[in-house]
Amino acid sequence: MATKSLKKRESDLANSNRQLDILSNGIFKNGELPTFKDKISETGQFPLKAKKLEILQINVGYMCNQVCDHCHVDAGPDRKEIMTRDTMRECLEVIKNTGAHTLDLTGGAPEMNPDFRWFVEEAAKAGIKDFIVRSNLTIIRANKKYYDLPEFFKKHNVHVVSSMPHWTRGKTDKQRGDGVFDKSIRALQDLNAIGYGMPSSDLRLDLVYNPSGAFLPGDQASMEKDFKKALKEDFDIDFHNLFAITNLPIARFLDYLIASENYEDYMYSLVEAYNPSAVENVMCTNTLSVSWDGYLFDCDFNQMLNLPVNSKAKHISEYNEELLEGRNIVISQHCYGCTAGAGSSCQGVVA
Ligand code: SF4
Ligand code: SF4
Repeated sequence: MATKSLKKRESDLANSNRQLDILSNGIFKNGELPTFKDKISETGQFPLKAKKLEILQINVGYMCNQVCDHCHVDAGPDRKEIMTRDTMRECLEVIKNTGAHTLDLTGGAPEMNPDFRWFVEEAAKAGIKDFIVRSNLTIIRANKKYYDLPEFFKKHNVHVVSSMPHWTRGKTDKQRGDGVFDKSIRALQDLNAIGYGMPSSDLRLDLVYNPSGAFLPGDQASMEKDFKKALKEDFDIDFHNLFAITNLPIARFLDYLIASENYEDYMYSLVEAYNPSAVENVMCTNTLSVSWDGYLFDCDFNQMLNLPVNSKAKHISEYNEELLEGRNIVISQHCYGCTAGAGSSCQGVVA
């Protein structure tokens, strides 16, 4: 049966408070496992503090053409939360004035926002060094109106970062839906055809891998080699880097963990793989996440758990670098997903 969003299913877990209850109680309440706060306190790393802003990540809406099993956004075609042009204008003011070197547009499928192209055109004028759009690839082949997206990305020198859970059809379609693999391959070929991902090209194309079950990702460098070899041999596809991302126990992945009775084992494996050196570089220390309605969060995960920044500046219209720098990061047990093994962020490993 096709996956539906938690919201569409009217699941308890569509409520972020319910997710936070689960993460705060049970094995973390009875002392079986240390809370994230206690764990980072052992090495004197509590409270986690925000450093200088380097990456501004903007979520332009939760609507998506896919409904992947493990989506931390709980995105899908039924999600109607979409950033308006007015909020985009407020974001543009910050983009023009911030010293951040990276702008990262995400969703849902960001391309489904009706003002997406306008926003990209305007944001590209700010000349930020690295302008990322997180594209799920299939959107490029979903409808004729999106077929020219590769050219549009090229025109604005966008860095394309795309999910690709595996180089085989079976594993990809199992996690992301029937037909996703074939459409993704076609989209990658379209991107390669205009120069994206080619070895000496400045048109950056990176892929994101996340595990298909209740286990941690393997070594990023060796997985990148395997992906490159398989995609080249089977489909003549090139790409630059592979980011291996750990699934955080929130939203549909949390639902999957509970339904498959893997929640406690997964939390044990995250805590066992805790790596204090990954804590220093977790992405919330240099990133700010903006929601579709303009509110500020330490990261996209905190956005989905509705844990706003601990600052007087709570909305993009109130953005103030001095107020936000040095803020205490809001944490809970989902943060163990960022510090397991080599660590995990939207840019892959951190340690
Ligand atoms: S493509 Fe991305 S945003 Fe859309 S459902 Fe899948 S994981 Fe979620
Ligand atoms: S989940 Fe967010 S707040 Fe927690 S460590 Fe990761 S990036 Fe930081």
